[in-house]
Amino acid sequence: MASPDWGYDGENGPEHWCKLHPIANGNNQSPIDIKTSETKRDPSLKPLSISYNPATAKEIVNVGHSFHVNFEDSDNRSVLKGGPLPESYRLRQFHFHWGSTDDCGSEHLVDGAPFSAELHLVHWNSAKYPSFADAASQADGLVIVGVLMKVGHANPNLQKVLDALKAVKTKLHSQISNPSVLLPSCTDYWAYFGSLTHPPLHESVTWIIFKETISVSAEQVAYQRGMRRSRSLHQAELPTTQPLKGRTVKASF
Ligand SMILES: [Zn+2]
Repeated sequence: MASPDWGYDGENGPEHWCKLHPIANGNNQSPIDIKTSETKRDPSLKPLSISYNPATAKEIVNVGHSFHVNFEDSDNRSVLKGGPLPESYRLRQFHFHWGSTDDCGSEHLVDGAPFSAELHLVHWNSAKYPSFADAASQADGLVIVGVLMKVGHANPNLQKVLDALKAVKTKLHSQISNPSVLLPSCTDYWAYFGSLTHPPLHESVTWIIFKETISVSAEQVAYQRGMRRSRSLHQAELPTTQPLKGRTVKASF
């Protein structure tokens, strides 16, 4: 969904997105700082049901500021259900966000603290809309599952994904392991209503952020930095967290 009128630095950076996309000042923008003392446990939140079929992994695309792993989404082989969702949502793609140092890189913060990286698994409402493009601007159109990543021991499951990325440089197709192996073992999560974190900034995203972080080694983050065509983002260039404006962050736990 890259478009030429925005970027992460200089005249196209996050500070300027509101000129072309006034929704940047809307009431439901993302990312946010999750203040844990202000989250509200919601006993009606069901456990998440995640069923991904690795055969639906289609291609890896370098979009300059990141790489996207795209999935075949013409049927319900890879879907997310349960949690706060009334429908089933199809997996469209996943990607990572990271920074120029290990101290920053995640888009969401927890109690004011950034993490080294953040995984986003993007899904769309296939029960209600005919395509991702149709769903992307609708209030109940998208669900993004976020996993915060902390620098520590090497993550063997992430390594499989990075190895697939390495392989794709030399051949067109490569086996991408099932992204569900990247999810933390504890399935407790926060959920809130928000937006895409880059233009067109549609307020169409139910965010599901896992409470438990996953580990990534310094080398693995460094490898991701090397994947980027342009330079890594410094903290000042990351999208700033947005005010809640009356929204509640629900907790499943
Ligand atoms: Zn993202």
